Amino acid sequence: SNRYCCVMLGSGGVGKSALSIQYVQGVFVDVYDPTIMDSLLRMDTIEGRNITMTVVDTAGQDDYIDQTTPYIRMADVCVFVYSVTDATSIVHVSTMFDHALKARQGKGPMPFLVVGNKSDLQEHRQITVDQGRRLAVTLAGRMRLSGEEVLAVTQSPLFMETSAKHRDDAVLLFRSAVMTINKV
Ligand code: GDP
Ligand code: MG
Repeated sequence: SNRYCCVMLGSGGVGKSALSIQYVQGVFVDVYDPTIMDSLLRMDTIEGRNITMTVVDTAGQDDYIDQTTPYIRMADVCVFVYSVTDATSIVHVSTMFDHALKARQGKGPMPFLVVGNKSDLQEHRQITVDQGRRLAVTLAGRMRLSGEEVLAVTQSPLFMETSAKHRDDAVLLFRSAVMTINKV
């Protein structure tokens, strides 16, 4: 099929909406309602193929985790976002990942990407590129322990840093997400 669904997961304020809107509308939003859960649609061309991408932009507060379960189950790929300026948010990725694995039990491998956002805020950085990459590898290992098949770690873009201010970063993120699905 040429239709893909991608779910955005992570703490409030890390930039899930900003990345989604940058990809779909080509603008950076400074202020966006943190409670809005929305799905956005974009036609794209990836490696010469026309595709339709649905981005499910969740509200990441802990209160809403359970509400994300059906979206995690129907998604082709889960994107776990933290902010490189917020050390707590990378811990939350680990929690969300375990929730997602449980939510998808019995559905086979869970294609995923770990994204460290706000890379433009270098002076406020709390998380290094290496910490982000290591987390992604650790999570892939956890998926294997849960009995699910694991992605070919060396081939897949499991991890990247982005800035939602940069259109190219947002486009690369969602195109990588599709490539991740196709490699499972
Ligand atoms: P969400 O709760 O995860 O959806 O976070 P938002 O997308 O609403 O972003 C929270 C705040 O961080 C907003 O003020 C955004 O403008 C800002 N923001 C999001 N991504 C970036 C980024 O990559 N760089 C910078 N400098 N600010 C960002
Ligand atoms: Mg949001």
